[in-house]
Amino acid sequence: MADCIFCMIANHEIPSNVAYEDDQIIAFHDLDPQAPVHVLVIPKKHIASLDDVKEEDRELMGHIMFKIHEIATDLELENGYRVVSNNGEDAFQTVKHLHFHILGKRKLTWPPG
Ligand code: 5GP
Ligand code: ZN
Repeated sequence: MADCIFCMIANHEIPSNVAYEDDQIIAFHDLDPQAPVHVLVIPKKHIASLDDVKEEDRELMGHIMFKIHEIATDLELENGYRVVSNNGEDAFQTVKHLHFHILGKRKLTWPPG
């Protein structure tokens, strides 16, 4: 999708520090990390948020969840990590392309802000 920064990252039109990539998804380190490890996992297909997931995206959504575990293993997050997806206004979603934050390598407080 034109003017979507994460589509541009998925298409390698703007650079990112890639942690994992395949034909369906890309994972890259966040520009403004909120933990010692902060990686974003996104579908290459433009989906604005979880509210926009369609029946045809079932396999893709499963693939994302399955790969998050592998990516976390590669990032050596054996002591634990948090997966967050901010959706919509109240959650302060700033980039309107579905993404899952993987945060780790520090003690994460609960409840989140
Ligand atoms: P949200 O607030 O929408 O859940 O998260 C968006 C995330 O994308 C933020 O953590 C922000 O730092 C990150 N981000 C925004 N633009 C870029 C970018 O151009 N490159 C990278 N690597 N991260 C970005
Ligand atoms: Zn996009």
